[in-house]
Amino acid sequence: METREQKQIRRQLDEVQGGTAEQIRLQKRITDIQFHFKQDREKAKPTRNQLIVKDTAPYMKEYDFWCKNCQIDFRAPCYRYIVHLSNDVYASWRAICPECDTQCVRHITDRLHDPYYDHSRYILRQRNIYMKDVLKDGQYGFRTLYGDPYEAFTKRKMEDELRLFEDVSGMGYKHLGRKEREEARAREELKQERLYGKG
Ligand SMILES: [Zn+2]
Repeated sequence: METREQKQIRRQLDEVQGGTAEQIRLQKRITDIQFHFKQDREKAKPTRNQLIVKDTAPYMKEYDFWCKNCQIDFRAPCYRYIVHLSNDVYASWRAICPECDTQCVRHITDRLHDPYYDHSRYILRQRNIYMKDVLKDGQYGFRTLYGDPYEAFTKRKMEDELRLFEDVSGMGYKHLGRKEREEARAREELKQERLYGKG
């Protein structure tokens, strides 16, 4: 025999379970609808490349190009060339080399992999200009540009060493005659020169 309380609980449980089944059905329907909405939205959303291309004009009055054939940099008017491939778009600028009429290409999408940056002398020069500003001592070209930053220090050190050497050699050659002493010094100096260079 169930008590009144037990009956009430069972009724509540039945209600909840029935409600849950309905809820599950509705929830599933909502999820389905949301999923399809999302899919539609994703499809309608422009890709990164599409956004990039949208920002460009079909023609440009002037742009930098590199001709592989002539190995020259040139500025020329160019037009946009678009390729549609598997739901995406790829674009480039095309110009004609004034020297040899070759078609030259600059990337609009995927600009990081534009070979122009690897070949152009103009870009190389630009990079070298900035390279100068971040050059450190010991790197190639630093001393040509800025000289030896330790010149004074090196000179002082050499002078100190020479003085020390003269003191010591003076002591060491005391027993020799003047001519012999000079010869010995000359020999020692030559040795020092070979070791540390002139000056
Ligand atoms: Zn050319």
